[in-house]
Amino acid sequence: MTRKQIPYARQSITEEDIAAVEKVLRSPWLTTGPAIDEFEEKIAAYCGGRYATAVSSATSALHIAYLAAGLSPGDLLWTSPNTFVASANAALYCGAAVDFVDIDPETYNMSVSHLAAKLEQADRQGRLPKVVVPVHFAGQPCAMDEIWTLAQKYGFTVIEDAAHALGAVFNGDKIGACRYSHMAVFSFHPVKIITTGEGGLVMTNDPLLHKRLRLYRSHGITRSPEEMTHESHGPWYYQQLELGYNFRITDMQAALGSSQLARLDRFIARRAEIAGNYTRALAGMPVTTPYQHAKGRSAWHLYVIKLAEGLQVNRRQAFDGLRQRGIGVNVHYIPVHTQPYYRKKFGFKTDSFPNAQAYYEACLSLPMYFELTDEEQNYTIRCLQEILQA
Ligand SMILES: *Cc1c(COP(=O)(O)O)cnc(C)c1O
Repeated sequence: MTRKQIPYARQSITEEDIAAVEKVLRSPWLTTGPAIDEFEEKIAAYCGGRYATAVSSATSALHIAYLAAGLSPGDLLWTSPNTFVASANAALYCGAAVDFVDIDPETYNMSVSHLAAKLEQADRQGRLPKVVVPVHFAGQPCAMDEIWTLAQKYGFTVIEDAAHALGAVFNGDKIGACRYSHMAVFSFHPVKIITTGEGGLVMTNDPLLHKRLRLYRSHGITRSPEEMTHESHGPWYYQQLELGYNFRITDMQAALGSSQLARLDRFIARRAEIAGNYTRALAGMPVTTPYQHAKGRSAWHLYVIKLAEGLQVNRRQAFDGLRQRGIGVNVHYIPVHTQPYYRKKFGFKTDSFPNAQAYYEACLSLPMYFELTDEEQNYTIRCLQEILQA
């Protein structure tokens, strides 16, 4: 029997999405037109945040968020080792140094107790981080209230890497409401919750941060007379106030984003349903299913299981067995501190963050996306049972 490959993640594109992009293509604006403002307003309203700045990717969103926080050479940024390299790389673009806080072995998010202990030590040594970046891994919110309390005590900026967590809820607020952070960053890469092809966004409630994010998005240039250092020369005039970048998103992408956003709640509901099916079907099998924070609701970007220790089948064999059966399982994440570049630059060792390393050796991401059918999911579960019982 030939069956089509089941990926671990994929986008869902409708005729409405295509029509929304086509409409922009037939309009006078291809970039920096009305579709971007509309997308930003809609996503801010959805999340309950005040100011949204849409950009070309979450990587560029992290970069301008770090710049807006004032991250500079000589500064330190801390994040989770269980993340995509972008969370850390963007700090290096600013000339800052990076360190990590080990994960909690149950939630796979940055451990708040490790963070508290590391801050206490860093405070004694006079080497506190300027920015701390919690990553809502798999869409499961971090304990943001506790991190925010530590931010008040030690004076660091909190930037949520919410690339997995559009539509997730913590303590009754959507991620992006920024009740316990200065900024939150979303990704619209096709594997994420909604897509614009490539794209990202920074949310903040702070008008000054918002102003700086706008500048960094487009060359540090302003056209607003009230932001200028002296009187405008005329209607053509602009001023460059900072060294910014071209991180602009296009109107085609923003129109796709708005069209996708209209289905976000349906996306999340189906993802939660798929997660529930996995969790029920895997009960009694030698795997750990995802933790759920009592105050949180995951966006279910990923469904990650951890294989029990001492099985006949190791993670590599389970991975290969599922791939051979046409199931595109994956591994999230190779701990960033173990990457050759980070080892060489900062001297990290494999066991520098042992919880992240132990998690990495046992984890497996099962297919999770809106259009995954019940039949495909049941097939995945049957294959996993077959492999683990071998
Ligand atoms: C995908 C992702 C990013 C980067 O997103 P891009 O839009 O591809 O730049 C950053 N952080 C995390 C946790 C991600 O999963």
